[in-house]
Amino acid sequence: PPFPIHLSGLVQRGFGRGGKDLGCPTANLPDESISPLSSVARTGVYYGYAQVIPPAGEDRPLLEDEVKVLPMVMSLGWNPFYHNERLTAEIHIMHAFKSDFYGFELRAVVLGYIRPELDYVSREALIADIETDKSVALNSLKRPDYQKFAVDSHFQLS
Ligand code: ADP
Ligand code: MG
Repeated sequence: PPFPIHLSGLVQRGFGRGGKDLGCPTANLPDESISPLSSVARTGVYYGYAQVIPPAGEDRPLLEDEVKVLPMVMSLGWNPFYHNERLTAEIHIMHAFKSDFYGFELRAVVLGYIRPELDYVSREALIADIETDKSVALNSLKRPDYQKFAVDSHFQLS
């Protein structure tokens, strides 16, 4: 697979399905920003690093978590809202943000595949799987060979 895959775009509002109530908010990337993912064309859950950058010219100091490069899990799927004709990428960053960041720039480096999409019989089963995805991601990112991607030139480094 062609990893690393670089993505960036302004965070869009999703349809508010699941996400936060599952304890797993997912930031949506705009359609035009996900074309680098068409090369993998495999739906499911991925992991990597992400960074949130506030709009330029905001007259306030940056919050620390707005510029950090943080571990993430990403779900890539066909969007039922568009009759399953459009791919959607949603990124959950493994960090407790103090506020939402709609409209902010999101940059991400996708490094690997975790699993295909599954149909869940219960909300509990879905939540349990998300927790497994997060630990798989954190464990994979511990590999020394991945450390360099946290300082990838794709990210805005201070
Ligand atoms: P939506 O349907 O609008 O995507 P969600 O419930 O999935 O709603 O929440 C996603 C939003 O939550 C993101 O766009 C972002 O502004 C905010 N957010 C807060 N913390 C996180 C996080 N750790 N990872 C991703 N998004 C987060
Ligand atoms: Mg979402």
